[in-house]
Amino acid sequence: MELSDLFARFPVLRRAAQAEEVLWPNPRCGQPPAKGEEVSPGEIADAAARLERFAPYLAQVFPDTAEDGGIIESPLKPAPVMEASLRARGEMPAGRLLLKLDSELAAAGSVKARGGIYEVLCHAEALALEHGVLRPGDCYGKLTKARDFFARYTVQVGSTGNLGLSIGVMGAALGFHTVVHMSADARQWKKDLLRQKGVEVREYAGDYAAAVAAGRAASRQDPMSYFVDDEHSKNLFLGYAVAASRLRRQLERQGVAVDREHPLFVTIPCGVGGAPGGVTYGLKAAFGPFVHCFFAEPVQAPAMLAGLASGLGEKISAGDLGLSGRTQADGLAVGRPSGLVCPLMETRASGVVTLRDRRLYDYLRLLYRTEGVFVEPSAAAGFAGPAVLASEEGRALLARLGLEGKMEQAAHIVWTTGGRLVPGEIRREILGETFSPEHVF
Ligand SMILES: *Cc1c(COP(=O)(O)O)cnc(C)c1O
Repeated sequence: MELSDLFARFPVLRRAAQAEEVLWPNPRCGQPPAKGEEVSPGEIADAAARLERFAPYLAQVFPDTAEDGGIIESPLKPAPVMEASLRARGEMPAGRLLLKLDSELAAAGSVKARGGIYEVLCHAEALALEHGVLRPGDCYGKLTKARDFFARYTVQVGSTGNLGLSIGVMGAALGFHTVVHMSADARQWKKDLLRQKGVEVREYAGDYAAAVAAGRAASRQDPMSYFVDDEHSKNLFLGYAVAASRLRRQLERQGVAVDREHPLFVTIPCGVGGAPGGVTYGLKAAFGPFVHCFFAEPVQAPAMLAGLASGLGEKISAGDLGLSGRTQADGLAVGRPSGLVCPLMETRASGVVTLRDRRLYDYLRLLYRTEGVFVEPSAAAGFAGPAVLASEEGRALLARLGLEGKMEQAAHIVWTTGGRLVPGEIRREILGETFSPEHVF
């Protein structure tokens, strides 16, 4: 399709192509999903059970998960001071603000500790069962003694940083030879940390898609190698989706109702779409029409916006819109959305919101001042959700959805997706009011 045709049919893309901040409400949200979808709820239950089988092992190799018995999960935390500050700025609708703190997830320090670690565990389990290293019913704690076995195999991944960290941390712990192909956006400290853990890091001058392509090609040449394919992986998706049933229990325990009279809004930073897509899939299965999930993307890298708003899925990229894909939000520096995730979100995502890089730093500093919570720039994108719902455009959307009278009883979850592993020196730099990154987009 010609760009001019695309813009005529989908005016929001014309504005997005000019790097404007936009809200795209998904007109198909709530329609019945297409038949023959690639993922089913039963597979998510399987994924949750697999993570429980691995819990005794994880508790041993990641001591920071021992307290939770080897289950890698993050707190759900009310954020009343941040809520009040945002409201005073006109960036918070009625209802309460809660944070889902994946920025504090054990083991890999970001939302990737869900999908990335899960996928490596799937692969390890399959290999171990196939070769009799594990038998059904065994305690998986014994895998701590299987490092020599896993050392015969290689795991590879292309990444802008955090996915590489999670695959690298898990792969290295199991004993795999692990290779992470890093794009130019990747932060130096993430590469350094991986090398410290014995992971092989290969660096590329190109973007995320180029790093993925290089990793895929390298892996294909080695029969003992397995490639974690962020652009298509179902296992990653399933790992992310497990978050929903756990969040449901946290909401129940904290007395946060989600039903016809108590809408729940969730905003999740989005790169290729796997993490927000998986979480959204799980939440829609749990709460149906009472949960409203929004994806937040940088103005220069609106991959999911392009894929969903055009209906073209992975056939379109931010680059096709003339955008650079460059952003300080390294975890979101992705131009092309996942081909697995787009079709699954066509009827489940409530919308996509985009924001400029400057606001990431503004939100992360405000969050630190008000709640004492540190997050990395990508992880602050979710605050664009409440902000846009408080705007005129957002209020019009809430009215169309018949929700304006229910907002006092609403809950807003901002998913803060990473930050735990950011070194102290870099935290101080990011938090310093005088710090301004060389390029903000
Ligand atoms: C990867 C990442 C995301 C988005 O996940 P995708 O699966 O790429 O959409 C969000 N926040 C952080 C911090 C990330 O690392």
